[in-house]
Amino acid sequence: MATRSLAERDQAVIWHPYTQMQTAAAPIPIVRGDGVHLIAEDGTKYIDAVSSWWVNIHGHAHPYIAEKVAEQLRTLEHVIFAGFTHPTAVELAERLLDILPDNQKRVFYSDNGSTAVEVALKMCFQYWSNKGQPRTKVLAFHNSYHGDTFGAMAVSARSAFTKPFDQLLFDVEFIDLPNADNISRLREHISTFSFQFSAFIFEPLVQGAGGMNMYEAKYLDDLLAHCKTEGILTIADEVMTGFGRTGRLFASEHLTEQPDLMCFSKGITGGTMALGLTTCTAKIYDAFLSDDKLKTLFHGHSFTANPVTCSAALASLDLLLMPETLANISRIEEQHKQFAARVSAHRKVRTIRQTGTILAMEWETGDSTSYFNTLRDQLYNFFLGEGILLRPLGNIIYIMAPYCITNDELEYIYKKIEQALDQF
Ligand SMILES: *Cc1c(COP(=O)(O)O)cnc(C)c1O
Repeated sequence: MATRSLAERDQAVIWHPYTQMQTAAAPIPIVRGDGVHLIAEDGTKYIDAVSSWWVNIHGHAHPYIAEKVAEQLRTLEHVIFAGFTHPTAVELAERLLDILPDNQKRVFYSDNGSTAVEVALKMCFQYWSNKGQPRTKVLAFHNSYHGDTFGAMAVSARSAFTKPFDQLLFDVEFIDLPNADNISRLREHISTFSFQFSAFIFEPLVQGAGGMNMYEAKYLDDLLAHCKTEGILTIADEVMTGFGRTGRLFASEHLTEQPDLMCFSKGITGGTMALGLTTCTAKIYDAFLSDDKLKTLFHGHSFTANPVTCSAALASLDLLLMPETLANISRIEEQHKQFAARVSAHRKVRTIRQTGTILAMEWETGDSTSYFNTLRDQLYNFFLGEGILLRPLGNIIYIMAPYCITNDELEYIYKKIEQALDQF
């Protein structure tokens, strides 16, 4: 009997994320990672220009993270986190609070970006209920994306992805991204309903899955200040923007207003393991302190603060804070800037935008801009054929590479994008 390929075995037993299994092409079997490259079973090398869904920041199979994780596995692989603690969880919380906005005082661990958002939302809803003033609505941006679990989905834009569940999602008021023209209208709108809003959740500076939409820090600052005066709690979802993506360690560093809560995941372990983290101010935390057991935050996951995952996050943080890495972030930012100037006049470039290490360009399609546009598949396959993993969001392609990517590798991607602009 002929041995079946990995792709065939996969197709017999696996259900992939965001994939129409009936029509999807066979998955590409990746057997090894090396720096910016993914290496397939047949030896093909791909530049991972999207950091494997935005998680990888130091390159694949990084030896330093591998070493630290192996050491932790031999020391303590896991321990229940209620009633117990362990060194890596405490050290990670201490080191993160040191570099986060200085109003952030507590760390709550979970497993991924969606759970980090769920925890933040539950903290906000229960903050108000613990104070005896329940508030049940949330304020969020149009085109937002905060995750796929129910609470996270509820605060995300309604779309084709949420359609089967729309009636089950709680009440959220969606507003436009702020700009010079609409800011005073947005402020008024918020004030009209402010007593209902428990929280305002936002992706600072860059909306990821919604199409890499970028907006200015000063207008977000304006909204945050306004929420503060109206008593609305603010949640910065830094799941995608955290850990250097926007050119600073956190997007919130571009702001003068500090959010009440923050959510992290994706880059936090350098992309090696799933970890979610929600941080909050003393004001939030203190609202749960009581002799009344009902005021407890009754939330937790089996693998809360898993020591191995925390050790990966600590190792990733060591690498991130090295001067070489910070220099790489600035270097990528500069390369993107030059490339943006180079192609912005191309007739197929509708818009090109950049925040830090994230570069996004919108293809001129003439008509529709839907995710289901065939252009998306053509571009995806074109770049794969050239050894580059780029995963367009409809007609928007973006580069969000690990920080170890070289200028030559970036130039190769830029050249192929220019070729695609002429071809499609
Ligand atoms: C990806 C993402 C999430 C969800 O994270 P998962 O780990 O995929 O659950 C939440 N918020 C933002 C801004 C994201 O980009």
